[in-house]
Amino acid sequence: MRLDALTKRYPDSPAPAVEDVTLDIAAGETVILVGPSGCGKSTTLKMINRLIEPTSGRITIGGEDVTGIDPVGLRRTIGYAIQAAGLFPHMTVAENIALVPKMAGWPRAKVRDRVEEMLHLVGLDPGEFRGRYPRRLSGGQQQRVGVARALAADPPVLLMDEPFGAVDPITRERLQDQLIRLQRELRKTIVFVTHDFDEAVKVGDRIAVLRDRSQIAQFDTPEAILARPADDFVAGFVGAGAGVKRLNLKLVREVELARVPTAGVGDPLETLLALLEAGPASPSSPTSPEHVLLLDRDRRPHAWLRREDLTRARSAQPVTDPLPLTAGVPVRGRIGVGGTLRDALEALLADGARPVAVTREDGTYLGAVDMATLLNAVNATPDGAADGAAEGSTGDPAPEDRPAVPEERSAARGEPS
Ligand code: ADP
Repeated sequence: MRLDALTKRYPDSPAPAVEDVTLDIAAGETVILVGPSGCGKSTTLKMINRLIEPTSGRITIGGEDVTGIDPVGLRRTIGYAIQAAGLFPHMTVAENIALVPKMAGWPRAKVRDRVEEMLHLVGLDPGEFRGRYPRRLSGGQQQRVGVARALAADPPVLLMDEPFGAVDPITRERLQDQLIRLQRELRKTIVFVTHDFDEAVKVGDRIAVLRDRSQIAQFDTPEAILARPADDFVAGFVGAGAGVKRLNLKLVREVELARVPTAGVGDPLETLLALLEAGPASPSSPTSPEHVLLLDRDRRPHAWLRREDLTRARSAQPVTDPLPLTAGVPVRGRIGVGGTLRDALEALLADGARPVAVTREDGTYLGAVDMATLLNAVNATPDGAADGAAEGSTGDPAPEDRPAVPEERSAARGEPS
């Protein structure tokens, strides 16, 4: 989709609401328009499905200029979801969802099947919800029906105007997660308007940060905008905590893990002592190890043995014997490779800043995330090198710290960790 020199002047307004906006959106991509209230986000969005007619400029979708075609026909190929769902109150859930397929002349049986399919897709039981009226739904359920309605005719393009603006924060998180999951499956071209930058970071493959008259201050991936806001306006919009927000975007499987020394539960004490004396375990953990990680017979993390656990044991038992199974601190914080570094940080803080054991899907030990892993990720730029000069950091370059291309990131997001 291409917006080409798009301008909107409302009658009686001296300044245009949107001025000369040009934006290219790839097929299957989720682009977020984010910016302060009144900057022209909604006007820009509504010009795409011609709910608002542009004063000048062009929109092409799939190479076709849609600026001149019949707007009613156009809207059947573009799904539209808005704040507070905008459901028709006098129609049941099923009737609301069936609206566009019916207008498009689908046979009754196909419409009925499609309604069922859409309700399943958004996680609502058709038996329970199909015949309900919108007033008997919670805000989050209404929003789900709104998304189901927007997707019902299987449009390639979906426009979403602050779709989750009217629900409580917990419901909003769930709806965002669900949209990310749906999008992994459906690969629609989505243009999504919000004033909430955190929502933009979470949901978007790319974000267009807009200032007055929809002027594009920066158009890039969430990673790139968080790492290098183009100017003070964007920096102000990114807000505090850019480092922590970036941890949200990075998956454990994308970073080089710290190596902590490991041993098996039956190994003699002298083996464990030797591991601690062996010196640094990996370049990212330059100090001597403070822990040995004991793995059980299935190579799952079992317990952390601290230096003091081992010195105490040395005076209490022969060094040729294994430690009792109860020795050390049971491993509490652990995380799957599909988890985010933000999850890892939470686990690390909850476990007294001990490294967090990373496990494969079958629960076996793979590596660890420690403070150095997190610092490297926060200081790395999206193109791979540590951002020492710009942020005054002395972090080493982390060449393994590849940028996550939008496809990879979307595919990885939402997986259980
Ligand atoms: P946003 O979605 O970013 O909050 P809008 O696109 O709704 O911004 O509005 C952009 C500007 O256009 C605002 O200054 C708003 O007051 C003005 N505007 C929006 N709709 C109309 C309208 N129908 N008539 C006149 N001015 C409008």
